[in-house]
Amino acid sequence: MQTNYEKIIIVGQGLCGTFLSMYLHLAGKEIVVYNLPKKNSSSIVTSGVINPVTGRRIVRTWMIEEIMPFAVNTYQKVEQLLQTSIIKQCNILDFHPTPQMKIAFDDRINEEPFLQKPSNQNQWNEYLNYHFGFGEINPCWQIDIQNLLQSWREYLLTNRLLKEEYFSEEQINLHKNNLVIYCDGADNTTNSYFKLLPYALNKGEALIAEINDLPRKNIYKQTCAIVPYKKDLWWIGSNYEWNFENDLPSNHFREDMEARLKSFLKIPYKIVEHIAAIRPANIERRPFIGFHPIHQNIGILNGMGTKGCSLAPYFAHQFSNYIVQGTAIHSMADIKRFSGILSKN
Ligand SMILES: Cc1cc2nc3c(=O)[nH]c(=O)nc-3n(C[C@H](O)[C@H](O)[C@H](O)COP(=O)(O)OP(=O)(O)OC[C@H]3O[C@@H](n4cnc5c(N)ncnc54)[C@H](O)[C@@H]3O)c2cc1C
Repeated sequence: MQTNYEKIIIVGQGLCGTFLSMYLHLAGKEIVVYNLPKKNSSSIVTSGVINPVTGRRIVRTWMIEEIMPFAVNTYQKVEQLLQTSIIKQCNILDFHPTPQMKIAFDDRINEEPFLQKPSNQNQWNEYLNYHFGFGEINPCWQIDIQNLLQSWREYLLTNRLLKEEYFSEEQINLHKNNLVIYCDGADNTTNSYFKLLPYALNKGEALIAEINDLPRKNIYKQTCAIVPYKKDLWWIGSNYEWNFENDLPSNHFREDMEARLKSFLKIPYKIVEHIAAIRPANIERRPFIGFHPIHQNIGILNGMGTKGCSLAPYFAHQFSNYIVQGTAIHSMADIKRFSGILSKN
């Protein structure tokens, strides 16, 4: 545990930097956040969904029993702190795309309390095309991450704790007496201290659409997800692209996603925007948290992959407690597991 430092520099104000700076600030630590504003960081492009189950086999997300209630409670407290609306329950209606997927869902219902079968299976015929029924994932949550980031940004600016500029590695020499913690998302893969971590970045895109008259209480999912978004808009996505040349929206995605949307949605829509970002994912699908084994004033909170909305509050809290009180970091998230690799640079 680091005890000998003056202040804590946090590099990045996506989900990770937001929560880490919040916890450390509320614990009375002196902090400064550097964030280069970027229109398409992962946290800006996200649909903000917390879903307790995952994948085609509908298995429980890692540690969700502990992490989801923690995250919900945290977002609700942040609503009080920042006096704004951030979180709402928004269950996923899972419209089975094939008979096999229906069987997979139905087979899991008895053993998985997050899964339910609504009795009126014709309820959505007016709006959506579906032939194999639907199930409900309950509870799911939706977080207005863009509002959270903007509200915390304003708080930091008001308190003179934010520099909206790039933090270069050369600046580290000026911060020998400070802790520097990287919450820099996918950019961390080029960071001299941490680039050897086993990242497996993937690109995700979404279309933003106007769809009048579709009820906004749920997320509708078939071969694409239709998620309530800012104002009256909808977020339609996404994909997991492992081979990509840049972080820009692609024609290929737009054509593919629009074809999926057309076959799912019965009512008119209008695409108004197309967004894309790189997810800071890794091979193990577990976070990277802790201090560098050699450069012990340089730390990291990263690797949230596809689950930043639930993982970031929980693990930022754990990392903040480690810094403030010396309590443990979960062994599957602690970067001590990569001490050997990281000691090579
Ligand atoms: C299409 C898509 C959909 C998604 N949907 C969901 C979802 O529904 N639920 C969910 O839980 N997760 C979702 N995710 C994943 C989630 O968005 C990420 O896990 C999370 O946003 C990662 O946050 P982060 O803070 O680590 O990184 P980022 O959001 O990338 O933030 C990093 C910040 O650091 C800044 N920065 C980097 N380097 C520097 C530097 N040297 N100096 C200054 N600033 C710097 C960047 O500008 C940026 O602002 C989705 C991601 C995508 C792309």
